[in-house]
Amino acid sequence: MSEPKIIVLSGPSGVGKGTIRKMLDLDALNLVNSVSWTTRDPRPEDIEGVTYHFVSQDEFQKNIDEDGFVEYAGYTNNAYGTPKKQLEDWMAQGKNVLLEIEVNGAKQVMEKYPEAVSIFLVPPTMEDLRKRLIGRKSEDEAKIQARLAAAQKELDQKDNYQYQVVNDDANRAATEVAKIIQSCTSGK
Ligand code: ADP
Ligand code: 5GP
Repeated sequence: MSEPKIIVLSGPSGVGKGTIRKMLDLDALNLVNSVSWTTRDPRPEDIEGVTYHFVSQDEFQKNIDEDGFVEYAGYTNNAYGTPKKQLEDWMAQGKNVLLEIEVNGAKQVMEKYPEAVSIFLVPPTMEDLRKRLIGRKSEDEAKIQARLAAAQKELDQKDNYQYQVVNDDANRAATEVAKIIQSCTSGK
């Protein structure tokens, strides 16, 4: 069996990272999802401990002070971070770990773990991205605008990733992502 790997899946908010992640066969890929900490408010569909650990700014800061994050970053006025212990425990158990994170955190992971596999999910067009953010109905207009502004800067960093996958059709894109993970983790 090959060494367990960190798989970084990045891309602008609304491109479909969560959608693609949910379509992956985690067991077949020997993969677990990292559950991030965030200071943002939960959305109706969020489940504490499953989609995120929702924490106060003080709790988040305390974990930074205790060196408890593999990476963390600010994104549109909130903080997001990958807890270190959970990732280390899973890797010690031989599991590949999927981090669905934004570009600044991804950069930190790529620097700390050069063997990590990095995948950037690209929207077919900015108009598609805008429609997806609106269609998700999870943010108000101001937050959508903030996310679209962030998206442009995020897209500028896509060449820093080993793989770029266009999320045109979700099934097609999920198959492509699964093949990348398979080929990078099976030791072939
Ligand atoms: P992210 O996790 O990157 O923020 P989501 O997975 O929440 O994005 O997707 C944002 C919206 O776009 C959701 O409503 C989702 O159903 C939709 N979506 C995802 N992938 C596609 C696709 N390939 N084609 C059309 N709509 C999509
Ligand atoms: P959302 O608020 O839509 O759940 O997430 C906003 C952005 O933060 C998304 O791009 C998401 O991938 C990213 N994100 C989620 N968890 C983490 C994390 O632990 N670290 C970093 N750096 N980004 C994260």
